[in-house]
Amino acid sequence: MDIRIPSLLRIKPDTLFKLGKYLRKNGFDRIALFYGEGIEDLVGRSVRISLDSSEITVVRQEVVHGNDVADLMTVAFDLPRGTQAVVAVGGGVAVDAGKYIGFLNRLPVIAVPTAISNDGFASPGASLRVDGRRISAKAAIPFGVVIDTAVIAGSPPRFTLSGIGDLISKYSAIADWKLAYHATGEAINDFSVMIALQSVQNLVTHPVKAVDDLGFLQLVCGALVMSGVAMEVAGSSRPASGSEHLISHAYEHLATRPRMHGEQVGVATIATGWLQDDPSRDTVLQVLEQTGFLASIRADPLDRAAFLAAIREAPSVKPGYHTVLSEPEAIDRLTHHIADDPLWKDLLA
Ligand SMILES: [Zn+2]
Repeated sequence: MDIRIPSLLRIKPDTLFKLGKYLRKNGFDRIALFYGEGIEDLVGRSVRISLDSSEITVVRQEVVHGNDVADLMTVAFDLPRGTQAVVAVGGGVAVDAGKYIGFLNRLPVIAVPTAISNDGFASPGASLRVDGRRISAKAAIPFGVVIDTAVIAGSPPRFTLSGIGDLISKYSAIADWKLAYHATGEAINDFSVMIALQSVQNLVTHPVKAVDDLGFLQLVCGALVMSGVAMEVAGSSRPASGSEHLISHAYEHLATRPRMHGEQVGVATIATGWLQDDPSRDTVLQVLEQTGFLASIRADPLDRAAFLAAIREAPSVKPGYHTVLSEPEAIDRLTHHIADDPLWKDLLA
């Protein structure tokens, strides 16, 4: 089993100013730099000063406009000789693009997320597009993750709330993994389960749960990294993705206005947690309430008809993937519960 984990991991305020220093200390002085759209205006100055002061040469700099595989391959095979590392600064699209370009060139990738709307930035895969269709491509877990929590604190709260929704889904994903173990004998990796759950537990017990609190953000970012590591250890996405992710993927196709990944996944976790009769469901609801996640959904509820259709369609998203939705009558029971329980009245419209 070949397990890779990020060697360079800095999560605290003002890390952007030290990016150059971190790169040099890890032996990189010739890098390819990729920014997400609009990100250079936001943090480009800090990055530039930090790279210049450490005498890092940027051999190629580009703004990533999308995550189409064909486009990324063109960029990847055109990297100048002697490039030592790929640095991707931005949201999910830029980081996934950087991860894939690095993977194709067998170069280490340093992910510098400026928003944390899901756990993709530290996962071993990359969410890309082929002919407009979303696919999960193989990539390597980043060599480095550098997060400036002051930048995250200044990002739109919806992004961070989405990340929290993606994190809280670990409870549902792991409950499904255990179900699959008992129902089909699918192997479970105890270490992967432990790191996924313990990292979420850290933020659950943190007294302040505000999306602009630097201490809380540090725990959220750390847990998102650990979710990626849990997937790497498991060799699959099992610890991070169960029935709640299947519902979210189905909703994305069915809804006229899909939401951010973690928003959909967070709401779906409330549903699957009920079905799993999972003891952590109260904790899930508590965290989603205290962070403002539920208030944000109530202000703009998900589409009820699309959500119910997504529950029905979810098992066919990944045939053979055993989850609580594979159990007899699970889908009907959940549909009735959503119709009856007042909790759902203002989360779906
Ligand atoms: Zn996710």
